[in-house]
Order: sequence, then structure tokens, then C-alpha cells
Amino acid sequence: MTTPSSTTTKKRFIAGAVCPACQAIDGIRMWEVDGVPNRDCVHCGYSDTLNADGNSIPNELATRVNTSALQKPKESKGQALQFFPNPKLKKDK
Ligand SMILES: [Zn+2]
Repeated sequence: MTTPSSTTTKKRFIAGAVCPACQAIDGIRMWEVDGVPNRDCVHCGYSDTLNADGNSIPNELATRVNTSALQKPKESKGQALQFFPNPKLKKDK
């Protein structure tokens, strides 16, 4: 079974479309989500969304690195900045 689970979304290839990320031709698929056109590239995985103005909004791939990076420490209050001397600047000869 290789049928995609998303049966409601019909992705169609755009003939002659060039991927803005990898410049591959005929790899761009387009579909709509709630009337919003989405695109992605089957070659490199690039995907973006077109907003109301028709501008491309690249979507970042949900990788572990991104998700972990989004988890910023919330408790960073009242911590005085301390500037330590950069050891690389010390040139002991
Ligand atoms: Zn691509």
C-alpha cells in the first residue's frame, strides 16, 4: 500500500515549473488547503505557500533540529550579562 493518507488533497504537477530551491523542472506539485495554494518539490522536498498577495512563503521542514530550536528557555529573567574574556584573544607566546 503506497496510497497517500491525504485523500482530500489533490496534488498536481505543474508542467514546466522550476523549483526555486533546486531548479529542477517538472518537480513542482501544487494543491490548495482552504483555498490557499501550496507548492512543494518532489526532488528536494522544498515547499512553500502562496499568501493572499501571491507571495511565496517558504515552509521550513519539520526537522528535529528545528523543533528543538524552537523550544527556547522561557526562564531567562533578570540574569545579568557577564562578559568573559575570550580565551582565543589571548595570545600567549
Ligand atoms: Zn526542488
